[in-house]
Amino acid sequence: MSLNSVLDEVRLRPGSGEVIPIIDPATEEQIGEFNDGGAEAVDNAVANARATFESGVWSQIPARERAKVLWRVADLIDEHAEELALIDSANTGMPLLQAQMIVPTCAEIFRYYAGWCTKLNGDAYQVQMTGGITGAHADLHAYTLKEPYGVVGLIFPWNGPIFNACTKLAPALAAGCSSVAKPAEETPLSVLVLERLLTQAGVPDGVVNLVTGYGHTAGAALVEHPDVEKIAFTGSTEVGRRIVAASAGNLKRVSLELGGKSPVLIYDDADLNSAITMAAMGIFIHSGQGCICGSRIFVQRGVYDQVVDGIAMVANNLQLGGPKDDGAVIGPLISEKQLNRVMGFIDEGRRDSVDVITGGHRLDRSGYFVHPTVLANVDQGMRLSQQEIFGPVVTVLPFDDDDEAVALANNSEYGLAATAWTRDLGRAHRLARRLQAGTVSLNCQLVFDHSVPFGGYKQSGWGHEWGREGVESFLQTKSVYTQL
Ligand code: NAD
Repeated sequence: MSLNSVLDEVRLRPGSGEVIPIIDPATEEQIGEFNDGGAEAVDNAVANARATFESGVWSQIPARERAKVLWRVADLIDEHAEELALIDSANTGMPLLQAQMIVPTCAEIFRYYAGWCTKLNGDAYQVQMTGGITGAHADLHAYTLKEPYGVVGLIFPWNGPIFNACTKLAPALAAGCSSVAKPAEETPLSVLVLERLLTQAGVPDGVVNLVTGYGHTAGAALVEHPDVEKIAFTGSTEVGRRIVAASAGNLKRVSLELGGKSPVLIYDDADLNSAITMAAMGIFIHSGQGCICGSRIFVQRGVYDQVVDGIAMVANNLQLGGPKDDGAVIGPLISEKQLNRVMGFIDEGRRDSVDVITGGHRLDRSGYFVHPTVLANVDQGMRLSQQEIFGPVVTVLPFDDDDEAVALANNSEYGLAATAWTRDLGRAHRLARRLQAGTVSLNCQLVFDHSVPFGGYKQSGWGHEWGREGVESFLQTKSVYTQL
């Protein structure tokens, strides 16, 4: 599907609500529009999902058949990789090369969960009791079954449209669930292509149902829906809190992948070339719009000036631009709202007398581009130090020893990721134990794999995606007792 045909398709999707514009963030031009699906589209989608789940067309077929379909989805994603990359790049403004690197991972996620379909077994227990409630001797065989939750709601953010969709859809399908999926209102396009590929691969109609629309309309209706058993959400911590409250009506299960304010510790014995480059890319890649971006860098005092200069140099040499700009490695922010938010944090910092080492301004061109920004002399109590900015803005502060480094790193309501750069491996592993984060990276950054569980400590999330935990989050456990 070309960009134009997806834009036609999204425009024709059912919805009675407000018209939502699709803006190219690299040019600020409107490239399309669609109707907010709202509560009515959600009701229909949930009914379809319920009907298919109860019919067993997906949930009850042999696991190996589900696996074959998931593998075919992966092959189709590979076949359509270029169009998926072009569409995500046009919709988010990210450089095409970046989108092209992401899509093959999406295929691998489907292959990985294709493998899990045939391995979702429970456990067996030998239970011998004397003097139970009846007082009689009992010799029992007990076992557990892993069963799909039923109808699940999947809510995606805009920062990696196809990637976030695959991260949830592949395990939900492997588990046998039927789903209603809502992409972010800013980025509805590539998921429409994925919907076609799912059908082409053999996922029966009605097993995956897309609803396009705003969060406060379609998203809220999905979360409140009494016939949805589980919500898997990726997005901001603020909306995550709202989702927890809204899901209380039928006590639906909720898993949350939320925001971060991830610390990076750089010690004076580190491989400084690697640490500087990776710490800079770890925040500036995708213009800081990644949940795991290392937005707080702490540097041992002896190498502080060297690291600050190095990070500023990388920041100044990164070429910003949209998909049509040759050589661009960093794209724009997703929206005017996001641009204003990021600039608001920087302006607040200036008012509070932080040092702007480099950046601190938007580019003098169309598009929501902010120059990679390095800030120093930032107080721990400032909003800049505590809140997720989700832009290309990093604070760099000095520390003297392990205790101070750990205290600074853990001084956050978030706990998504943390990094330490040091050649002292004993210290590195001690830090891994002390850092309050769901993922700790030692002497590496930006390396994640879907076979390893991913989730947040503290207010960065509930539960895990990826790995075995990823598929188990769509399964519930039933215990069965048999008298022998
Ligand atoms: P967001 O919370 O604004 O929106 C995420 C999704 O939730 C969108 O689809 C939106 O329409 C929907 N939504 C909004 N209000 C809703 C409501 N009341 N009920 C139901 N759904 C609602 O987040 P965003 O701005 O799209 O994405 C950026 C955020 O996502 C950042 O905080 C980032 O850290 C986080 N994120 C986390 C991870 C992770 O794995 N931990 C990955 C990517 C992004």
